[in-house]
Amino acid sequence: MDDCLFCKIARGELPSKKAYEDEDVLVFHDIHPIAPVHLLLIPKAHVESLASCAAQHQAILGKLLLLAPKLALEYGLDQGFRTMINTGRGGGQEVFHLHLHVFGGGERIPKI
Ligand code: 5GP
Ligand code: ZN
Repeated sequence: MDDCLFCKIARGELPSKKAYEDEDVLVFHDIHPIAPVHLLLIPKAHVESLASCAAQHQAILGKLLLLAPKLALEYGLDQGFRTMINTGRGGGQEVFHLHLHVFGGGERIPKI
C-alpha cells in the first residue's frame, strides 16, 4: 500500500521510535501516548483492519497477541497492561493498517 502511513513506517520511509522488529512484525511507540508506555504492534504486510482479516492472517494475529505480554514486560509493565484493537470508523480506528495497542504504566487505567 503506497500511501498507507504504517506501511511507510514499516518500510522505513517514515521515522518511528522502534521497540521491536522481526521479519513479520514491527513495534513502535505511539506518537500520542495515552499511558506512560504505549506501543503499537503491526504486521509488516498491509491488512486494513481486524474486519479485513481472514484465515491467512491467523498466524500473524496469534504472533501479535503472543508478543504483547513479552514486550509489555520488557517495557516495565509488570503490573499488567491493556490491549486494544480499534476496528473501522465506528470502532474509533484512525489508521487503516491493522495495529494492536499495548499500553499501561503510571496511574491505574480507568475501567471502560
Ligand atoms: P487507531 O485510532 O487507528 O486505533 O490508532 C492509531 C494510533 O496511531 C493513534 O494512537 C495515533 O496516536 C497513532 N499514530 C498516528 N500517526 C502516527 C505516526 O505517524 N507515528 C506514530 N508512532 N504513531 C502514530
Ligand atoms: Zn499499510
